[in-house]
Amino acid sequence: CALENETQVFTTAKTVAASGAKFFRGGAFKPRTSPYSFQGLGVEGLKLLAEARAETGLPVITEVMDTRDLDIIEKYVDALQIGARNMQNFSLLKEVGRSKLPVMLKRGMSATIKDLLMSAEYILSEGNFNVLLCERGIRTFETYTRNTLDLNAVPVLKAETHLPVVVDPTHGIGLREHVASMALAAVAAGADAIMTEVHNSPELAKSDGEQALLPHEYQDLVTRVRKVAEAVGRTL
Ligand code: PEP
Ligand code: MN
Repeated sequence: CALENETQVFTTAKTVAASGAKFFRGGAFKPRTSPYSFQGLGVEGLKLLAEARAETGLPVITEVMDTRDLDIIEKYVDALQIGARNMQNFSLLKEVGRSKLPVMLKRGMSATIKDLLMSAEYILSEGNFNVLLCERGIRTFETYTRNTLDLNAVPVLKAETHLPVVVDPTHGIGLREHVASMALAAVAAGADAIMTEVHNSPELAKSDGEQALLPHEYQDLVTRVRKVAEAVGRTL
């Protein structure tokens, strides 16, 4: 979830790279529900992220929460994430629409598929065509799980757009023991990419520890993703 310290960043980056990850994501600027919760390391986090890229060769992505942070973030990363809480921050969308970097746009927790598509248009209409759509779960009456992962969105978005569709089963269900099942379901539903949170010591995580996979669980998931992909006529 968040970039926390050298040990956490490098252990996690190296293990996911060895397991076959194609991208490494860590939050330096964190959108937290409470202003008193850990807000991220800021620029120090961006530096750790850039070092993780140098170490592993994996391209890196981080969330941009504020137009004022965009210049500095662009110096350190390969792609930008717009978080669920900012999906309809239209000035931010227009600003990343002028960036040269690809943007992964996460669906707002109360946003319809149409809302998500319209938000993507804000980025595209400024000239940035490298947009990825991310389904990360929506709020429903269900409270047993953190969110309700809307896998309906995957085939619908694939049919309605040419944009790659990413699924984030981690925030979608919010419970470590069930993340893998939803990741596999997302692959079967046609997702182009899966993003999961991984932590070397989730019990010590400063945010979202209860939903982070352990490194060995991530490794095991990649093996199973490959098998499900093959079963539905796709390749990893
Ligand atoms: C995250 O990706 O860590 C995050 C904050 O996600 P979301 O914006 O989907 O809540
Ligand atoms: Mn998180």
